[in-house]
Amino acid sequence: MAQPSSSGAAADQVQPPTGTDRVPAGTGRAFRLATGQSIEVIPPDGPQLADMWAFALPDTAEHLSTEHTRSCLDRLSPRVGEAFYSSRRRAMLSLAADHSPGDHDLLLSACDQGRYDLLGHTAPHRNCADNLREALAAEGLAIDHVPSPVNLFERVVPGPDGELTISAPQLNGGESVVLAALIPVLVVLSACPMDIVATNGDDCTPKPIDVRIRG
Ligand SMILES: [Zn+2]
Repeated sequence: MAQPSSSGAAADQVQPPTGTDRVPAGTGRAFRLATGQSIEVIPPDGPQLADMWAFALPDTAEHLSTEHTRSCLDRLSPRVGEAFYSSRRRAMLSLAADHSPGDHDLLLSACDQGRYDLLGHTAPHRNCADNLREALAAEGLAIDHVPSPVNLFERVVPGPDGELTISAPQLNGGESVVLAALIPVLVVLSACPMDIVATNGDDCTPKPIDVRIRG
C-alpha cells in the first residue's frame, strides 16, 4: 500500500495530446457545455476514477441527481443511449458512447476529509468534495451541500444480500466515455485523489483525467 500523502497528487504530469484538456491528478475542473456539445472523459494512464457532477445553466440549483436518475431509469446506472437526470427529473446528459468496461457507480458518495479521517489520515488530504467546491469557486459559484456524484469508471457490484463489492477499475489507459449535453450544463470532474485504498488501482496512485469537448 502506498504511503498516504498530503497532496494525493502525482508529482509528474506529462502534457495531454493536442485538443485535449487535462484535469491533473488529484484535482478538479469545471467545463461548460452548450446543448449538443459532448465531453469525452478519458483516464489516459490506466485505473482512475472521475467523480462527475453536472449543474444546469443558468440555474445551477438544478443538478444531476443520482437518485433521480436511478428512479427515472429503474436501473443502477444508464446504458448507452440513456440519460442522467436532474433533481427536477430533466434529462441533462446522455451516455452517448462507452469505450470502457462500463463500470460507473451512482451509489457511493464523493471522498471527503471525513473519509480520509476514517482511514487514519487525519491531516488535510485533497478530496473530491473539496475539488468540486474549488472548481465551482473558479466559476464564481458556491454550494451548501455536495450532491452525490457519478463515479465514472468505479466498479461497485451489489451482491444478492445487499453487500457492495468495490474493486479497482479494470482500465489499461485510453478507454473513455462520451456524454452529450441535452441542456446547457456545467460539468465538474474530479480526478479522485484517493491514494490509501485501491479506488484508483492497485498501485494506489492518483492519475490525471483527460477531456475532449466536441460540437
Ligand atoms: Zn475521490
